Amino acid sequence: MSEAHPKYLWWNGRQMPWEDATIHVTEIGWSTVGAIFEGIRAYWNPDHGEAYIFRLREHMERFSQSMKLVRLDQDYSTDQLIDAIVQLVRDNEHREDVYIRPLAYRSGDGKSFSGFGSEASILINTRPMPSHLLTGKTQHAGISSWTRISDNVMPPRVKNLSNYRNGQLANMEAAANGYDTAILLNAQGKVAEGPGACLMLVRNGKLITPDVTSSILESITRDALITMARQDLGLEVEERPVDRTELYVADEVFFCGTAAEITPIVSVDRYQVGDGTPGPITRRLEQLYHDVLRGIDPRYAEWRTPVGLAKLAPT
Ligand code: PMP
Repeated sequence: MSEAHPKYLWWNGRQMPWEDATIHVTEIGWSTVGAIFEGIRAYWNPDHGEAYIFRLREHMERFSQSMKLVRLDQDYSTDQLIDAIVQLVRDNEHREDVYIRPLAYRSGDGKSFSGFGSEASILINTRPMPSHLLTGKTQHAGISSWTRISDNVMPPRVKNLSNYRNGQLANMEAAANGYDTAILLNAQGKVAEGPGACLMLVRNGKLITPDVTSSILESITRDALITMARQDLGLEVEERPVDRTELYVADEVFFCGTAAEITPIVSVDRYQVGDGTPGPITRRLEQLYHDVLRGIDPRYAEWRTPVGLAKLAPT
């Protein structure tokens, strides 16, 4: 893909040239408040000449769950949307790491606050997004003074665009205070998650992560890492409420998520985590996750959807 944007996107049942997908300016407004989305990655494997979409079905099942929770009509099945995504990544000839973003919004809702009317438009677009796994990226985090949204306010379980205002506020505060990123506590004062990622820590060789009722998104990466930690690294994993001070005394802390992948946190509120560098369990998980995503490690084949670029003539 050499252009500034990919050739195609998918909008309301049709794959079409990027330039053709336009709406009237008055549509901007309330439609985005209720919009829900997914963030999905595909990883390029140069030896296979193939791109693999990671846990596509799980992402699109969560997309469907988000649509249900915000009461949008579902005119397309999960299978139809999966097929559309595979074709889109293939036809855009992404021979690189890619971010795929399906978005569902209330059609014709630009002028109305009410939230009524359930007809949905769905847009799927793709863009290059290089992986930072194994590049040595680390972050310094600060506990945010902003509280994480909660289930009876704006449910974090829904991947709703509006939810991200909470994370933006936390990120802006973190930057103003000289941190790279923020960690949000929930209404109960327990650790929730980052602005766009879940959080894991290691204490005494045990992997610990806030449970799914701690005001977090039910992260697909989190689930994958719990599975691999148990099955492949033989680690004990605890999903439970996590105290803030546990982060200060943790041996290892990292963010996990589709965009965040695995990002080691090397200090929290200026308390050094471990020896201030990514710890051994984080590094083992990162290597395994990387190899599984790219199909270098054959395990978990059911998590990888090949897009079919290997069958096309190379460019
Ligand atoms: N929490 C939040 C708030 C997020 O935005 C994300 C990224 N989607 C995650 C957690 C991680 O979720 P996943 O692993 O499914 O990408």
